[in-house]
Order: sequence, then structure tokens, then C-alpha cells
Amino acid sequence: MDFSLEQSEVSLKEDIRGFAEQEIPHNWIVNFLDEESRDEDWAFSLSISRKLAQKGWLVMNWPKKYGGCDASWVKYTVFAMAAAYYGIPGLSMGVSGTGWIGPSLMLYGNEDQRQRYLPEIASGSPDGIWCTGYSEPNSGSDFASIKTRAVRQSGEYVVNGQKIWTSCAHRARWCWLAVKTGDSEARAQDSISILIVDMRSPGITVKPLLNYSGEHIFNEVFFDDVRVPLGNLVGEENRGWYQLMKSLVYERNSFGGQSYGTSKRILDSLVRYAGETCRAGKTIAKDPVIRHRLAENAVEIDILKMFLYEIAWKMDVGMAPLYESSRNKAMADHVLEKIALTGTEILGSSCQVAQRSKMARLNGLIQRQYLMFPGNAIAAGTDEIEKNIIGKFKLGLPRSY
Ligand SMILES: Cc1cc2nc3c(=O)[nH]c(=O)nc-3n(C[C@H](O)[C@H](O)[C@H](O)COP(=O)(O)OP(=O)(O)OC[C@H]3O[C@@H](n4cnc5c(N)ncnc54)[C@H](O)[C@@H]3O)c2cc1C
Repeated sequence: MDFSLEQSEVSLKEDIRGFAEQEIPHNWIVNFLDEESRDEDWAFSLSISRKLAQKGWLVMNWPKKYGGCDASWVKYTVFAMAAAYYGIPGLSMGVSGTGWIGPSLMLYGNEDQRQRYLPEIASGSPDGIWCTGYSEPNSGSDFASIKTRAVRQSGEYVVNGQKIWTSCAHRARWCWLAVKTGDSEARAQDSISILIVDMRSPGITVKPLLNYSGEHIFNEVFFDDVRVPLGNLVGEENRGWYQLMKSLVYERNSFGGQSYGTSKRILDSLVRYAGETCRAGKTIAKDPVIRHRLAENAVEIDILKMFLYEIAWKMDVGMAPLYESSRNKAMADHVLEKIALTGTEILGSSCQVAQRSKMARLNGLIQRQYLMFPGNAIAAGTDEIEKNIIGKFKLGLPRSY
């Protein structure tokens, strides 16, 4: 098995490093989930999305006719890992046009929808920013129990209900919304549909939910008689549950490159820090506990990379990975948690101060990761849910409930 990268992939990594040196401020550590929190960070991230699109990187693995470059999933994975390593924001077009809404539209959307929405995402336009409306106050892991309902009335859907934890809803132009459409007698899984909803529609109210570090990532979104054209149904009515099984593969997989790049960047920073920091007259890099901890992290980060290449290769050859995306998500969560914990042990009290404090070490990278990893392990399916899926589809275990 040959794991070496092709020349074009090696040069891509170099080009991304050059782009980051030129475009990203040295002390920049905001990306993915928290770039939408502050207006100035958001404006900067959007400007980077546009530049990534101009370079042909943003959705390089999409077909040319929708604004991509026909690149392989493997090459896109190389890009995603390197971009995250260098801290480049603006990769996802909300949560997440590039990662799962675009690929899902290519699978289940009709040609009009693809032509209408994909180029906006691919070009890095503010009109290509999406949010995902799945979770509700009483439906998270038990997604089939959602209550938000769309009823056909005078040639439109009329939507009523509430979503929660909707990342980026305050920035998004469009919502990828899961609703109930089937009659109340129908099996829950056979009565869900996916609608594309214009976030500017009358009847939508977005209310911020600040997370524990004060970031505005999540929102509550209320739908009060929101009218949606029938043409905004994605795929088949009442088949949304089955369509989402595939969308969730894209969603879970899309966390991988980001998680790998972030963890590898922290690992490399910690290795440098350990080599430069002395305690009791010698560098802490000589301390066996610290060395072993870093070595464990390095092995796990390498495993994640192999998993990412494996699933990307399977997608390139037309296989349909299922449990692998849950495996990658669970591994990515594990790696992010472990590297954050290693960082807090190595930095000691310095990791407790605020990111912009003069006492912060490594530019606040560890504090940030320490605050972010629990959320990562919940979004797109909690660790327990990913393990349930691995148990069922990899090991053939019976359902847990
Ligand atoms: C950072 C972040 C971003 C998010 N962004 C979005 C978004 O953009 N759009 C959106 O729709 N949602 C979003 N979410 C919500 C997320 O999808 C849900 O929080 C998640 O699905 C879990 O649902 P819940 O919070 O209702 O917890 P619950 O489902 O109530 O779970 C609570 C606990 O019980 C465990 N549990 C539940 N069922 C089982 C089971 N069968 N077996 C074993 N353990 C179980 C869970 O693992 C968890 O530990 C986001 C969440 C986070 C943290």
C-alpha cells in the first residue's frame, strides 16, 4: 500500500502554507465553530472564503459544473487537514455548505436546486452560508421524534415549530431544515422531509444562545407560519430520514480534517514548547511523563490521519462508507480531547488565563481547545451515538434501545 502523496498534493500543502503566511494574522486562532461569533471575525472569515474559492480550493472535490475542480476526496482531505493546521478560517460556509449540504444536494436535490444553490456556496458568497435545523428542545440524539411540522396549504408548505442549537443561524442565508410531513399515524422515520428555507422569510425568529465561553455559536430558531415553496423540498417527501443517513456520513466525516489539522498544530506547538521550557535546570522535553504523553498523542493523531485517507479513498472509488464516518468522528473527538488535556498538563496554570492575556502561552491555543472539545464531542452525534452506530454496523450488535 503506497501512502505517499502525489506531487500535486505535496505542492498543494506548500501553497496552503504560503497562503496562510500571507493572509492569516500570526495570532489568529478562530475558526470553524466560533468564527461566526464576533462580527469582525465573521467578516474576516468570509473574506477568506472568497479567496479560497478564487484559488479553486473551497470545494475542490465538487464537479466543475457546480463550481468545484473535480479533485478527488483524497486531495480535498489533504487540503482540509493542511488548512486547519495553518488555522485558515472560512472553510465551511456556515454549518456547513461545503461539508454536507452541498454534497447532499448533489445526491438528493434536483438539477434546478443544484444550479440554484451550489455555485453560491462554491464562490464563497454570503448568500452561500447555510445552517442546519435538525435538533429541537426535546429531540437531539432521538432525531426521529422532531415536532416541527410542514403542512401543504395553497401550493406551499407552512412550517411551525422550533429548532435549537442551530449553529450560524444568525449568519445564514439558508436553512437545511428537517420537518415532519407525514400523518400522525405514520412511523416517525417515514414522516420526515428536508426543506430549503430562506432565513429571510417572514415568521422566522432567531434568538442567540451564548455558550459557556460567551461565544455566540448557537441559536434558537422559531418558525411561525413560515411559507416555503413546494419546490424547496429536497428529494422525496417523507424520505428525509433515509436521505439524512447519508448526509450525516458527510457531516461526521467533515469534522475529520479540521480535527486532525487542529490537533497536529497543537501537538507541534507543545513539542516546541517542551523543548524550550526548563524546569529544575533541564528542558521538560526530557521528562518521561511528558514525552510519553506527547508520543501517545502523536500516535493517535496519525491513526486519525489514516482513517481520514481511508474514507476519502473509499468515496473516490464509489464505495459507500457508513460506520467509518462514526469511527472517524469518535476518533477525532478523542484526539481533540486528549491533546487539550496534554496541553493543560504541560502549560499548568498558564492554560487557565484568558486567551488574550499576557500570561497566555502558545497564543491561547490550549485554552481554546480545552473549551471547544466537549462541544465537538456532542455536535453531529454524541460519542455514545457514534459508538452505538459502530456497534451496529461494524460489529453487528443488536440496537441498544
Ligand atoms: C457545538 C455544537 C454545535 C451544534 N450545532 C447544531 C446545528 O447546527 N444544528 C442542529 O440541529 N443541532 C446542532 N447541535 C445539537 C446536537 O446535534 C445535539 O446536541 C446532539 O445531537 C445531542 O442531542 P441533545 O443535546 O438533545 O442530547 P441528548 O440526545 O438528550 O443526549 C444526552 C446524553 O444522553 C446520551 N444518549 C442519548 N441517547 C443515547 C443512546 N441511545 N445511547 C446512549 N447514550 C445516549 C447522549 O450521548 C448524551 O450524552 C450542536 C451541538 C453542539 C454541542
